[in-house]
Amino acid sequence: MTATRDAANPAYAPTVTLVGAGPGDPELLTLKAVRAIARATVLLVDDLVDDAVLQHARPDARIVRVGKRGGCRSTPQAFIERLMISAARAGETVVRLKGGDPFVFGRGGEEVEHLTAEGVHVEVVNGITAGLAAATSLNVPLTHRDHAHGVVLVTGHAGAGSDGTDWQALAAAARQARLTLVVYMGVAGIEAIAAGLLAGLDADTPALVVQHASLAHQRQASCTLGTLCATVRGQGFGSPAVLVVGDVANAAALVPCDARRAAGQAMKR
Ligand code: SAH
Repeated sequence: MTATRDAANPAYAPTVTLVGAGPGDPELLTLKAVRAIARATVLLVDDLVDDAVLQHARPDARIVRVGKRGGCRSTPQAFIERLMISAARAGETVVRLKGGDPFVFGRGGEEVEHLTAEGVHVEVVNGITAGLAAATSLNVPLTHRDHAHGVVLVTGHAGAGSDGTDWQALAAAARQARLTLVVYMGVAGIEAIAAGLLAGLDADTPALVVQHASLAHQRQASCTLGTLCATVRGQGFGSPAVLVVGDVANAAALVPCDARRAAGQAMKR
């Protein structure tokens, strides 16, 4: 590794920057993210980060893939944190690239806690989260004065040892408060999620499933909550995908933004 900062200098503070890489389309990176990527001497790259985002990295940056694409099923979290800490202490400019936003189901919160406890300073750069990009790619506003007064980002796959989400209660709250539901990691458990939501929301509530949002191979289907499960299974939707449930997902308004996606593709190496 080529250290770019003087780790021996008493004023040196080991730092790691958690950077949101957005949903995939490199055009959706923030300027701050691009600058952080360009400065990094070590980049730890999550599974869902599209390779096109790495076009901003220095040619000599060390790129460590810490997801399934790296060859193993997934890199243990403790290993990733140890690597970040040792590289930062050695004076490297360390960037951890995460899909979407680091603080939306990205374990960014845990990483900040662990790194801070080890005396490593952490900076976080927001990214566009997948649910927002998925909806926007179809011109669906997640909030709307007439249709939705708020939005809930919820995981369909609560961590081990968790009781999971009370879908029925969530559906009742969504109905009462007019909230759009955006479910991440919901494909594997779609049967239980749809059944729970149907206990509190009408079967004809509009729904969407969007896979690979913002990428050239994005695919989507619009349906209702009552047909969501059959749509996901029947059309073979897989990860990564988000589900959007609520009046804003009304099919009549859907306009895929193909031109924008095509422009994003032109940026790829
Ligand atoms: N931090 C990320 C979420 C990580 S959890 C973010 O803010 O977007 C991983 C889940 O995110 C996936 O299972 C899927 O539900 C969703 N996801 C990530 N990228 C996606 C994409 N391009 N299209 C659709 N869903 C995506």
